[in-house]
Amino acid sequence: MISMKLGNRGLTNLVASLRSTGNAARSFSLSTPSCSESESGPCFGLSDIQQELQSMTRKFAREEILPKAAHYDKTMEYPWEIVKKAWELGILNPHIPEDIGGPGLGIFDACLIAEEVAYACSGIMTALEGSTLATAPVVIGGSKEQQKKYLGRLLEEPVVAAYCVTEPGAGSDVAGLKTRAEKKGDEYILNGQKMWITNGGVANWYFVLARTDSNPKTSTNKAFSGFIVDADTPGITRERKEINLGQRCSDTRGVTFEDVRVPKENLLTAEGAGFKISMGAFDKTRPPVAAGAVGLSQRCLDEATRYALERKAFGTPIINHQAISFILAEMAMGVETARLAWRRAAWEIDQGRRNTYYASIAKAVASDVANKSASDAVQVFGGNGYNTDYPVEKLMRDAKIFHIYEGTSQIQRLIVSRELINRFKETN
Ligand SMILES: Cc1cc2nc3c(=O)[nH]c(=O)nc-3n(C[C@H](O)[C@H](O)[C@H](O)COP(=O)(O)OP(=O)(O)OC[C@H]3O[C@@H](n4cnc5c(N)ncnc54)[C@H](O)[C@@H]3O)c2cc1C
Repeated sequence: MISMKLGNRGLTNLVASLRSTGNAARSFSLSTPSCSESESGPCFGLSDIQQELQSMTRKFAREEILPKAAHYDKTMEYPWEIVKKAWELGILNPHIPEDIGGPGLGIFDACLIAEEVAYACSGIMTALEGSTLATAPVVIGGSKEQQKKYLGRLLEEPVVAAYCVTEPGAGSDVAGLKTRAEKKGDEYILNGQKMWITNGGVANWYFVLARTDSNPKTSTNKAFSGFIVDADTPGITRERKEINLGQRCSDTRGVTFEDVRVPKENLLTAEGAGFKISMGAFDKTRPPVAAGAVGLSQRCLDEATRYALERKAFGTPIINHQAISFILAEMAMGVETARLAWRRAAWEIDQGRRNTYYASIAKAVASDVANKSASDAVQVFGGNGYNTDYPVEKLMRDAKIFHIYEGTSQIQRLIVSRELINRFKETN
């Protein structure tokens, strides 16, 4: 078994040693040893090391996170203690490439982690995933120097980053962003207001998407640029923490940029490349978000099943009433289907293939399943389900955000419809 005290480089070291001994030859793909040679599609098992990663994260999530989830929900404190422990365990930055010193795990492996953490508390999963979202554009479009400096920083100490795209006036409609970056000598001067930024108040650095081309006729694909911005740069204001419906320990804030001077070295890829890299990040991050929604759904199912076995009505445990056992069956059908959806999406990108279609399907399906599962769990609990002394009301509040962040469910359907039309035209 993987030790519980790996240190942040522990997972990296473990992966390296397994790779060097050949034990991990098939480790980071969705493969059981018996089906890994298949070229035709995903298999359904986990490799040995994936099983170890899963059970290590499960143990951590259930022992260290789950018992404290209600506390963080009530106090809305940022879960620094958990973030630090997750960093020590090596599960905070699983995707950071090996040549930077990170574990270099696949998206599938990141999803296994997200599902287990979200089972215990999806708010804490969001706090961890917010950093993954911020680093994804740097993994996609950063130079080696940028990666070493900013991704390396996340490996050296337990700090987090934030992804700043949404603004008060534009979320789904990214083309409508107003934040500007103007080149002046060797710097860009950043002005604008970002909104709903996960980790906004605690991040060490920000990924910021800003307009660099003032011509309104320039296409969205060329008008925006991505920057890495140190959070302590003068001119940045972290606004008040938002009080959200659920996932309340996650730190969501507005972040304002007023004449913030960003060295030109912090421009990602090139001027005009920002939209592509910021949207490309979602291909890597939507599968873990979907996996998080599945973790929450599995928790709903487990809580509801346990309760239904214990709670009696009309002289028998309520699970013996078919109306209740069918609710549980529907929940199980949702969980299993949504899990397959994130596995397909993650597997596709780990194969080096474009997964936009599958990532949006997984995100949309898993969000719906999470919301239905949470509502059903409250129903199974009856009056107790509506009360804060029981865990399922938090699950219901937490579930809603899966319909909204990282692209709303309507936007996922828009993407799926566009993708399927293209696919249809290509094959017919
Ligand atoms: C807790 C939380 C954390 C977040 N974290 C981050 C973060 O870290 N970084 C970041 O940049 N953003 C973050 N967001 C922002 C989030 O991604 C946006 O809220 C989301 O993309 C929706 O944008 P909006 O709020 O502007 O809604 P709008 O875009 O105004 O949408 C309003 C409604 O209209 C629908 N709609 C809009 N356009 C269409 C269309 N073309 N077709 C059909 N329906 C449409 C939407 O689906 C939605 O139902 C976060 C939000 C929350 C609440």
